[in-house]
Amino acid sequence: MIRLLLLCAATAGAADNVLLVSVDGLGYRNLTSSAAGRELTTLHALTIQPMRTAYPSKTSAGHAALFTGTWSGTNGIVSNTVPLTPRADHTVKETVSGFRSTALTADPIWVTAARQGIRTVAYQVTQAYPFSERSAGLSLPHPPVVLNGYQTEQFVPYRVVRQRDLEQSGRATFLWKDGPLEFRIRRTARGLRLSAQGHTVTVVAQAPESASPRGRPLARYFSRPLPLVIKGKRTAVFFRLIEFDDAGFTLLHTSAHELAVSGLGRPIPGVFVGNSAISVYEKGALGKLLVNGGDGSAERLMLETIELSVRETTAQMVWLQRTVKPRLFVGYYSVIDDTEHAWYGLSSAGNTVIDGFRAHAYAALDEGLKQLSAPYARSAQFFSADHGMAAAAREIHMGALLAELGYDKTQVVPNASCLYLNTTDWKNGTITLGQRAQVLDALRARLAAHPVVTRVYGEADLRVRFGLDGPTSPDLCFDVAPLHYPSETADPPVVREFAYPRGEHGFDPTREDMWSYLASSLARPAQMGTLVDIARAVLARLH
Ligand SMILES: [Zn+2]
Repeated sequence: MIRLLLLCAATAGAADNVLLVSVDGLGYRNLTSSAAGRELTTLHALTIQPMRTAYPSKTSAGHAALFTGTWSGTNGIVSNTVPLTPRADHTVKETVSGFRSTALTADPIWVTAARQGIRTVAYQVTQAYPFSERSAGLSLPHPPVVLNGYQTEQFVPYRVVRQRDLEQSGRATFLWKDGPLEFRIRRTARGLRLSAQGHTVTVVAQAPESASPRGRPLARYFSRPLPLVIKGKRTAVFFRLIEFDDAGFTLLHTSAHELAVSGLGRPIPGVFVGNSAISVYEKGALGKLLVNGGDGSAERLMLETIELSVRETTAQMVWLQRTVKPRLFVGYYSVIDDTEHAWYGLSSAGNTVIDGFRAHAYAALDEGLKQLSAPYARSAQFFSADHGMAAAAREIHMGALLAELGYDKTQVVPNASCLYLNTTDWKNGTITLGQRAQVLDALRARLAAHPVVTRVYGEADLRVRFGLDGPTSPDLCFDVAPLHYPSETADPPVVREFAYPRGEHGFDPTREDMWSYLASSLARPAQMGTLVDIARAVLARLH
């Protein structure tokens, strides 16, 4: 009894404020073994250990494991697309986004904590929106504050606007209209005045940022945000004047989204920017890519949008920390995933110029992490991620590969590095449950014999090692040879070369390049853990 009391006292004394942050796409290897990763001084001040993520190592599945403390057999979020259940009511091809709350079947940590009376904020977490009882604890006496701008409507994407494409609407004045976004552009001696809905911001031309992000304002060449109301929702865009001379101008504006907020009861200042400008960067709209002979200007502009995302994300999170004063704060950054999708493949191929740009992105993130974690210097801190990153030079069209092996679309359905048999427990299924074992054995053997397939996991592994034992779980998972990336595409050819090597994930989570990490203020645990261990450790610090 005395021992028990002492234990309770020790536990009570450990109650703490807790910071839990996911850095999307930051793997253990990049964090610990690359020059870029060493820029993350905030994380290197903590103890770092490798953590295994979900199978397949996709963003939705990794975050669901991190946030619910369960694998997808229990939490339902098997991949970025999730088959709808119950199986009897849906065909195997009917899916819903794994980023949305729709398919979530376990409680996320922010709801569990709020149910225990702990004041909680969750910023840009996955599986939160649409807000529901499960995803946002809507009926709780003290519901968590939950914010999401990724699954809401994106009113406009990032765009590059050129004077030569615009119709002049007056002297030195132009009108830009793109769906619900409309603003007036007026040339001045030094730059542009942008006006909409009674607000005006100015922007002057600057060469792409070349200084380190350390010790200066991030994204300093962007305009102030132009506030907008689109479809009744408050939003805003920022502008960056890339080129400006007598002949014309080139202007970048950021994407605009609805930021959905639950449980806050007042407006949040600042702007949800979301991802970097990777969508326009990869199309060459920011200038010729380095890999195509560019001089690095496009990469530097892309880095400025990474800085902007870090700056605005951090500002909103810090405001929430100060205003709500939560015991548990759950945060999220997207920028390393963008960085590594764009540049990790080139880095792996030995491109040292790209490594300099990667280090810049990591340093910018570190500036944000410093601000975010400063109030938690004497509290519990947990940083983790959903997956790592691997170089990929070619895509395997799994639909086409399955056709080559003799299967059609009504028999086997690919999803990342896993496969579903269209068994008769699904609506309109074609393979009886009696035939299942035989079909699965044959499929396994044919896949294993294919030169690009390096490994095939059977049912016991999926169930026991990876927690793939629920109604949304696949029948088989596999891994592919290095530099290959499996997509669901059914169009030939089976293997398609990328224009240049990319960073990709979604592979076997036991692969070292897919490992996530835990950087925490806890003493280092003895063994490698898995992402589902983290939620329990976080909750333990709150009591
Ligand atoms: Zn991710």
